[in-house]
Amino acid sequence: MQVAKDTVVRFHYSVAESAGQAIEDSRDRGDPIAILVGHRNIVAGLEQALIGRAAGERFAVVVAAADAYGERSSPALQRVPKKYFREPARLRPGMGTVLQTAHGPRMVTVVKVGMSVVDIDLNHPMAGKDLEFDVEILEVRAASAEELEHGHAHGSGGQQH
Ligand code: ZN
Repeated sequence: MQVAKDTVVRFHYSVAESAGQAIEDSRDRGDPIAILVGHRNIVAGLEQALIGRAAGERFAVVVAAADAYGERSSPALQRVPKKYFREPARLRPGMGTVLQTAHGPRMVTVVKVGMSVVDIDLNHPMAGKDLEFDVEILEVRAASAEELEHGHAHGSGGQQH
């Protein structure tokens, strides 16, 4: 079966800045991720590169910033009380973290960690960067009716609920 809209693809990936060191590797977390294709669950450029491929394929693709996390807007700095972060003690400058906002969770970049507040940049840590993905496809299957209704994959590597 080939990857297409409304299939679920389970894969391992690593991502690096173009010609740079790996930023993230799914193997570090152990389990591959599962994505429902065609429902904006991953960056557009990577989804496009997955289409038409099958289990067992391994490939690398460079995704331009515009098709990844978007261009970087001018720094949008904000000072936020530590209580809005899940694990404030682990925050370090330069790392990405999830901030709970009125519009839902949002990936932001840590700029400075103070005693009771954290300075963040609302830009995604990978915004403005061309990214190189290395992908290994483990499984491709049709999505269930429930997955299509929810708009995301269930089971191993997907949403557990
Ligand atoms: Zn669901």
